[in-house]
Amino acid sequence: MSDCLFCAIVAGVIPADIVSRTEHSVAFRDVNPQAPVHILVVPIQHSADLAAMTDDRPAAGHLMADATAVAQAEGLSPDGEVGGYRLVLNTGAGVGQSVFHTHVHVLGGRDFAWPPG
Ligand code: AMP
Repeated sequence: MSDCLFCAIVAGVIPADIVSRTEHSVAFRDVNPQAPVHILVVPIQHSADLAAMTDDRPAAGHLMADATAVAQAEGLSPDGEVGGYRLVLNTGAGVGQSVFHTHVHVLGGRDFAWPPG
């Protein structure tokens, strides 16, 4: 999508701190990290949000699997020293989504409260 920030990062037109790539997704560090580890995992194919991906359940599954692999690569496994990680998909402006290209926030490296704010 021509005016999409994350499509531009996927295409390499806008620079980002890329962590990894798969056949299905690109992972890069958030510019405004909310935790010691804060990585965004985005599908290569544009969709506005997770709800828009439900027509393609395999793609949604690949995205979650890739996000999990990123967390594990960052040393955030539940049985590790840090004790786990949080995956967040803000879906809609009302809950804080600001970039309308589906993305999974991979957060870890500190304690997290529940319920989230
Ligand atoms: P959300 O509010 O859930 O839509 O998350 C969007 C995220 O994108 C925020 O955490 C921003 O800090 C992050 N972000 C915005 N622009 C960039 C960028 N150019 N590179 C990396 N992360 C970005």
